[in-house]
Amino acid sequence: MKLRKATAAAATALVLSLTATACGGDDSSSDAGSDSSSSGGGDTIKIGIKYDQPGLGLKEPSGDFSGFDVDVATYVAGELGFEPDQIEWVETKSADRENALARGDVKFIAATYSITDERKEKVDFAGPYLLAHQDLLVKADSDIAEGTDLNGKKLCSVTGSTSAQNVKDEIAPDAQLQQRSTYSECISSLQSGAVDALTTDDSILAGFASQEQYQGQFKLTNLKLSNENYGIGVKKGDTATVNSINEALEKMVSDGAWQQAVTDNFGPAEYKNEPAPAIGNVVS
Ligand code: GLU
Repeated sequence: MKLRKATAAAATALVLSLTATACGGDDSSSDAGSDSSSSGGGDTIKIGIKYDQPGLGLKEPSGDFSGFDVDVATYVAGELGFEPDQIEWVETKSADRENALARGDVKFIAATYSITDERKEKVDFAGPYLLAHQDLLVKADSDIAEGTDLNGKKLCSVTGSTSAQNVKDEIAPDAQLQQRSTYSECISSLQSGAVDALTTDDSILAGFASQEQYQGQFKLTNLKLSNENYGIGVKKGDTATVNSINEALEKMVSDGAWQQAVTDNFGPAEYKNEPAPAIGNVVS
């Protein structure tokens, strides 16, 4: 991830398991996916997602799971031989993702997981499958906008996210950064006035802002503070799985299922997403 220098005003502000066997097999110690047939269909597959990000990865009160990441992961699992009822969803919060993959808790992670050089030292990525941008969510009556110096402001983000790291490194090193374990905790802080802004990917922020209980309360500043290339995280060294997932992602785009997932999940939030990225095309 590299911060965009695209807009002058923003710059001013800146001064301031699939199956172990079917897919090549990476380890026998992992119980992230077990396979009972050579055709690819196995027992279950464990997939990491977020549980509290509407439009991306959400555990509904009914116990169902919804969101773009959920649809992408379900499609990919299908290509790997797993029916939806063979998927075991696992919550992987931002700070837990690398460890969850290293331990073999899950076969892959589709959880607004940006591809970065630092993360690539610990995990492998398939994709990207979406390009998002860091932004700010503020109260509807906030005067924070393009050009506002964010140093000194109270910003909420999540531990282990690129969003928090970008604030510290470049966006506003002197901001009062408050780090929580999930974005839904930040939303509560924003609502109560404990923080001035919640900062993370625009895709996530749009999903929160569109929730019925928050209608009219918040606005996005549309600053495009970074490029966030969402990848599917896989255990380091599991090249066979990366290759299988990349094939699945390519098919998802070419058969229209990717666009359908965009329409279904981002439509209600009126999130204007970027076009489908080509596999391997990480925008810095
Ligand atoms: N896409 C960013 C990241 O991977 C922020 C969203 C998140 O925390 O999942 O860190």
